[in-house]
Amino acid sequence: MNALVVLSGGQDSTTCLYWALRRFDEVRALSFRYGQRHIRETEIARELCAEAGVPWECMDISFIAQLSPACSLTNPQLDIEEEKGGDDPYPTTFVPGRNLFFLSIAAVYARNHGILDIITGVGQADFSGYPDCRDSFVKSLNVTLNLALDGQFRLHTPLMWRDKRQTWALADELGVLDTIRHRTLTCYNGVVGDGCGHCPACRLRREGLDKYLGGIKDNE
Ligand code: ZN
Repeated sequence: MNALVVLSGGQDSTTCLYWALRRFDEVRALSFRYGQRHIRETEIARELCAEAGVPWECMDISFIAQLSPACSLTNPQLDIEEEKGGDDPYPTTFVPGRNLFFLSIAAVYARNHGILDIITGVGQADFSGYPDCRDSFVKSLNVTLNLALDGQFRLHTPLMWRDKRQTWALADELGVLDTIRHRTLTCYNGVVGDGCGHCPACRLRREGLDKYLGGIKDNE
């Protein structure tokens, strides 16, 4: 069976890449350039795929940045760590529609490659507040994609109910803890591996890692 992984080059989707390699005979990966600040993440995705023998492609969908000029992840003029005031309940790093676009495009791409299983690293355990990371959204979109493309797609979300500690545990189980820790890019400031240490993404990632490594120590 073949599968397609939506791969950003960050901790979560890269863990999903190795998860998929354990479960499927053939795995492909698809990355997106959507105007994100740190284009390095797509290079990381390409490098890791080359090493794992995974065919990789990158799609340019930078119209996403154009759609939401107030998003700090795609607008370099904005401060990424600043809280957004007003009525919008989401942080400035929320890219509206991102996973809707990613997964819709991935499904069309998968269809063209005869693939029904699509893997995404989204999850709702560490509450990021992003509505398109929730299980209800993914399940609903799965139905919609099957109707839209007259297919039998299966959207897999191995991290949906895992918090960051459990995601590190999974990486360790898969034998790729060091690869995930030192090679992936999650940091909003574009620092690979352990990151800048102070942005919200780094704090979440670090807290999870400390909890996971601390838990191992306690059991020794
Ligand atoms: Zn950071």
